[in-house]
Amino acid sequence: MEQPLHIMIIGAHPDDNELNCGGLTARLTGRGHKVRYVSITNGDKGHFADEYIADPSRLAARRLTEAKNAAAAVGADYICLDVHDGEVYVDKPTTEAVIRTIRSFGDPGKGPDLVIFNRTVDYHRDHRYTAQLVVDATYMLTVPMMCPDTPFLTRMPVVAHWFDVFTEHGAFIPEIAVPIDDVFDQKVDSVACHISQLFEWLPYNAGQLDSVPADDAARSKRLREQLLARAAVRTVASKDARLHGDRTAISVEAYRICEYGRRPSDDELRRMFTIDGLSPLIH
Ligand SMILES: [Zn+2]
Repeated sequence: MEQPLHIMIIGAHPDDNELNCGGLTARLTGRGHKVRYVSITNGDKGHFADEYIADPSRLAARRLTEAKNAAAAVGADYICLDVHDGEVYVDKPTTEAVIRTIRSFGDPGKGPDLVIFNRTVDYHRDHRYTAQLVVDATYMLTVPMMCPDTPFLTRMPVVAHWFDVFTEHGAFIPEIAVPIDDVFDQKVDSVACHISQLFEWLPYNAGQLDSVPADDAARSKRLREQLLARAAVRTVASKDARLHGDRTAISVEAYRICEYGRRPSDDELRRMFTIDGLSPLIH
């Protein structure tokens, strides 16, 4: 049997990874590969309730449970580096924590096959600095005298960015499109685990708390519609992606390779992104 791949997905907040990569995660774990979600922060500022303002650690504890449930729903595990929400900085302790975290997943000295994260261009300061931390960690993964307590890697991972809609420093150009229709319900179930965010904080922050349905079935239906709309943007943007698993798919997740990691062959990319067959360009 082929060795399973190790894929690490790194986000700033406990809900970033499944929102952006939940479909790919479900497809990878469904094929026997190992996926680990990492959140730099514990999300302890993402709420408005008095009980959490009085004691943010209670929110962090709730979000840890939500994130573990969400990761499990798509077959991944989850670890949190426990930085306070809104307080990600590119400093020595956090950079070293990211290096150790990446090195520690997969076989010693080999590490993960693939690391996925957001681009450094983003509206949220935590997202920007998380991306910078991962970029800064990449080369150092292979340097023996950096964090010598954790075995250095003898091979750079492939590094990739998940899709975003920001254009200020150049629009995201999708390179790989992963069709996720077959696992879409699993992605919805995963994201729905973040109750404190999807049905409380984010609607509150947008001034729409009154519009959140009370019952679970209605909430799930609304979330599914929101994720389908989000997927539609990716599907349209990705139609010309170089590696596309199914150009007729209704929903895709799109990725592009970051030039600071190892340059993979197309065969490797197809395995890492679950592209079983290639869909030809049709215009
Ligand atoms: Zn986030």
